[in-house]
Amino acid sequence: MPENQKGIESFIRPELAGFAGYAACKSPDAFSGRVVKLDANENNYGASPRVQAALSCFEGYHIYPDATQAELRCELAGYTDVPAENIVAGSGSDQLIDLLIRLFCAPGEDIINLPPTFAMFSFYAGLQGVRVVSVPRDECFRIDTAGIKKAITAATKLIFIANPNNPTGTLAPDEVIQEILALGLPTVVDEAYYEFTGKTFAHQIGKIPNLMVLRTFSKWAGLAGLRVGYGLFPVQVAEMLHAVRDPYNVNAAAVVAARESLKDAELLQDRVKLIVAERERLYGELACLGWLEPYPSQANFILCRVLRGEANVLQAALETRGILTRCFNSPGMENCIRLSVGRPEEDDILLEELRKL
Ligand SMILES: *Cc1c(COP(=O)(O)O)cnc(C)c1O
Repeated sequence: MPENQKGIESFIRPELAGFAGYAACKSPDAFSGRVVKLDANENNYGASPRVQAALSCFEGYHIYPDATQAELRCELAGYTDVPAENIVAGSGSDQLIDLLIRLFCAPGEDIINLPPTFAMFSFYAGLQGVRVVSVPRDECFRIDTAGIKKAITAATKLIFIANPNNPTGTLAPDEVIQEILALGLPTVVDEAYYEFTGKTFAHQIGKIPNLMVLRTFSKWAGLAGLRVGYGLFPVQVAEMLHAVRDPYNVNAAAVVAARESLKDAELLQDRVKLIVAERERLYGELACLGWLEPYPSQANFILCRVLRGEANVLQAALETRGILTRCFNSPGMENCIRLSVGRPEEDDILLEELRKL
């Protein structure tokens, strides 16, 4: 290497110098012994048994998946009651967040974000050099619609609303979402936890021309590891997303797993009911501890304010006992810990350890 040659890192886009990345949860492989995994809003009942069976006898792994997503979109049309032409599947709904930001926002333009909320909205905006204009939620995590109106400028291209919101579990009333949609800007309603609430804007797709809805198989169907999500869009947006996505973005195993999950939707929905009932039990038990303040949740996790001690110390103490949780310490979420709702026997282990602490 010539002596005056600069290091390769100096060629990296300078605006990414401070890019922190996403603080992903640790792999359970990093732990030995019993692990109770309550850190990533996964489904601890696992995937449908039909998924395991279909994948073990699947013979198409050597063939590229269908670039048109025809079969998957047709099945999703049946599930959502939205026509296949309005549907685009992604490698997780995360990928669709990325594509939407790249489709609507040039570097230097804005998205409106409603923190505390899902970190991937600002993650992908940051990667694309898109400004994140934050309109914070109030102390009960309600959306500030007046604040959104004030934040809009000519540079605003996209509004993201996670509903129910992650990591708070808050569901916004329909009227609030409608009021935001009435502003006329492209608006993404991220319904990753739809199956836990039954509340959706899906039936308004195409009728409200600026509405887009994201969904995923990661939470209700237990397919987080296979990465399959989808979105419902006005046809013009769907067509552009198909044009800009990589042709084989949803892998063959994920397509099989999504199909089998939809065939087994009844069993999966029964598990969702168990998780919702368990969430209410866990909420009550957490409130009884006296030193955690759980927030009401419409999803498969519960955010708690830690009233005594520090959330990161609590998270670390639970981790040494094989219980994985996620702590948050950001504006509006000071000293908080988020617990996914596990199976009852897992939550009992959590509660037992919490009572000892
Ligand atoms: C989990 C989650 C997603 C991501 O889902 P994937 O399909 O696994 O990428 C998207 N949005 C919200 C709000 C989530 O909580």
